[in-house]
Amino acid sequence: MTHRPTIALAYDFDGTLSPGSMQEHSFIPEVGQDPATFWAKVNGDAARLGADNILIYMHEMVKAAQREEVRFRREDIERHGQQIGFFDGVSEGWFQRLRDYGAERGVKIEHYIISSGLKEMIEACAIGSEFDAIFASEFKYNADEVPVWAASAVNYTNKTQFLFRINKGALDLSDHAAVNRYVDEDDRPVPFRNMIYIGDGDTDVPCMRTVKEQGGVSIAVHPAGDDALVKKTAALKADARVHFTADADYTDGSALDAYVKAAIDKMAAVEALKALERG
Ligand SMILES: [Mg+2]
Repeated sequence: MTHRPTIALAYDFDGTLSPGSMQEHSFIPEVGQDPATFWAKVNGDAARLGADNILIYMHEMVKAAQREEVRFRREDIERHGQQIGFFDGVSEGWFQRLRDYGAERGVKIEHYIISSGLKEMIEACAIGSEFDAIFASEFKYNADEVPVWAASAVNYTNKTQFLFRINKGALDLSDHAAVNRYVDEDDRPVPFRNMIYIGDGDTDVPCMRTVKEQGGVSIAVHPAGDDALVKKTAALKADARVHFTADADYTDGSALDAYVKAAIDKMAAVEALKALERG
């Protein structure tokens, strides 16, 4: 049996694949607010209460919809997901192009999302079907499909657990045994040396560090021409959080495209060497 190694690309969502936050594309306008006011309220409440920002923003979405008498059922959240726009190239072939690129080099390319945003919105967005798994925050719904509680809240520190789930192939969140079972790094479905993490920095530093320190590749992206955000990713590179920074340009031939392909080349070469060593 020929062994086809797997390379996993794990992406943050907001600010990485899509400009701004996913709530800004249509939800926040629908409840009659502007993003700055909405997030100031969330961050202010979280700071005042010593609470988790993610749980507070989920609660604030429910409260804002009730206050404005705006429909907010599962299907409405999915409708907001469909309104999400993307950086250049993201919804124009990036994911399949890299799967093809890997296949030509004898490796399998998988794409994963690790996001503090809402899983329901990501699943419903234009690229929702591209991912092998989506790890994100999620509501618990009642029988009428109205959100009543937070089922899962993914913040910047607990984001890293999903890297270990990808690493061990323990994608089922209800399987607590698989993620904690001892497996030699070489025998794991996706060794960290075959992981590429792409984020914009806000909630990504622990993931960027984990992937980089464990032998994978970390990348920080910013919107082209946004001086403040270019500075932010440059600081991540200066602090050795990431290997590379680039415009969030996912078109064929962009700097990001070239760097990711070079990383895949290197990972595929290491796997070819290891295969020869195994005999
Ligand atoms: Mg982000």
